[in-house]
Amino acid sequence: MSDKTAILAIDQGTTSSRAIVFSKSGEIISLAQQEIPQIYPKPGWVEHDPEEIWQSTCAVIEEALGEAREQGWNVLCAGITNQRETSIIWDRASGQAIHNAIVWQDRRTAAICADLAAQGYEEVVNARTGLVLDPYFSASKIAWILDEVPGARGQAEAGELAFGTVESFLLWRLSGGEVHLSDATNASRTSLYDIHHGCWDEDLLELFQVPGELLPDVCPNAGKFTRIATGLPGAGLLITGMAGDQQAAAIGQACFAPGDSKCTFGTGAFMLVNTGDRAVRSEHRLLSTIAWELEGVRSYALEGSILSAGSTMQWLRDGLGVMDDASMSEEMARSVEDNGGVYLVPAFAGLGAPWWDAEARGALVGLSRGTGASHIVRAGLEAVAYQCADLMHAMKADGIAPKSLNVDGGMTKNNWLMQFLTDIVDMPVARPKITETTAFGAAVLAGIGIGLYESLADVKTLWQEDAQFKPTMDDSLREELLDGWQEALGRVRSR
Ligand code: ADP
Repeated sequence: MSDKTAILAIDQGTTSSRAIVFSKSGEIISLAQQEIPQIYPKPGWVEHDPEEIWQSTCAVIEEALGEAREQGWNVLCAGITNQRETSIIWDRASGQAIHNAIVWQDRRTAAICADLAAQGYEEVVNARTGLVLDPYFSASKIAWILDEVPGARGQAEAGELAFGTVESFLLWRLSGGEVHLSDATNASRTSLYDIHHGCWDEDLLELFQVPGELLPDVCPNAGKFTRIATGLPGAGLLITGMAGDQQAAAIGQACFAPGDSKCTFGTGAFMLVNTGDRAVRSEHRLLSTIAWELEGVRSYALEGSILSAGSTMQWLRDGLGVMDDASMSEEMARSVEDNGGVYLVPAFAGLGAPWWDAEARGALVGLSRGTGASHIVRAGLEAVAYQCADLMHAMKADGIAPKSLNVDGGMTKNNWLMQFLTDIVDMPVARPKITETTAFGAAVLAGIGIGLYESLADVKTLWQEDAQFKPTMDDSLREELLDGWQEALGRVRSR
């Protein structure tokens, strides 16, 4: 009889909640997905309704589990992965959130962060947390909610409220309000967690004015965290793995050795390189973060985020109207011999790592009478590769040169882009058969937590290659293109 052991992965993302049941060998048995509404109360503000996060998560768990069980699969345990940094505060007694979730993209606390930076606190934040002082991370979002919701600060100090990033909120709800935990990867994105000692940092709690009574305990990424409470979808199932989405993707991409790197190309793009047991202090504004904590050992990664990758394709489609579908970009890029001297800098919402330039805005440079829509689309795709090259250069300059690059996400279907990326970063690029790497990473952690897999090494063989791209571009052409990109970038940077 074939092994019908399976694992449920819950993937609560920025745009949707998903649940995927994987077989022990990593095949997808069932998948359910539900979009979640984005709330934009003011320019630069982004919120989610925690009840919509919760309801959509319950719905997809029920659907995916039901389908897998109907096919005779024995779902043994569940793992959670989530949009990181997004912050929720709820009342411990009623279980109700006291404010909408403030999403990672939200910039409302820019002034708080700028003020702290002006007072010289960037250094201590960076030294302890590996992060830069930026509204992106949870700490200033928590302080904002406590200051804006009447009575919240007093209630927090009295221990009546709980804070959690999304995994922590979901775990608490799924446990029936019993278990308040976060995991090391998610905690490392709050700007309150000392990533070297693995604990909440009292000085940072004071700096951001966050009462310690709010905070969850922090656990490793695998373990028996709770059982899903009676009456909920998946009741009785043990939750045995948790990690933030990019760290889960790094696990799903088998980036287990120092120098292994992965990049996920969705709306934005996130590159992580494993730095082993060293938390590297970046001199180039990359983030140092916990990759995972398992069996008492913490592993670290350097991370760089590109704010606009797939969203550039959305803009070309919806804003400029030069294509009907993102997938047309491949044919259009191939239809021209080169970029015709056109560079598109997609700084629609500023530039991410390594520039962290919030004031920069996009540009299309090098236009001539010969420029057509295909050149512009090609320039949009090329920009994704150039931004990856910038991140890789920063990683190298920090002493951590990526040795290999595994890719995933919606844009990696584009073979032209994958070959161009390979040529620009000048290193082989591999695309796995399992494209749902984030959810798969959560499943792997859950499998380790319940003892289905012994260790990460045990799952290394589950990663299988779909395609491997090899660099073929002349050095001189690569340098010419990168020079053109740097020049275009120079025109948009505000500092
Ligand atoms: P997210 O999880 O951020 O929503 P996905 O991983 O689903 O993103 O990827 C979707 C993104 O990839 C969209 O922004 C879309 O424009 C882009 N995309 C999808 N297919 C292609 C393609 N063939 N070529 C280029 N971009 C693509």
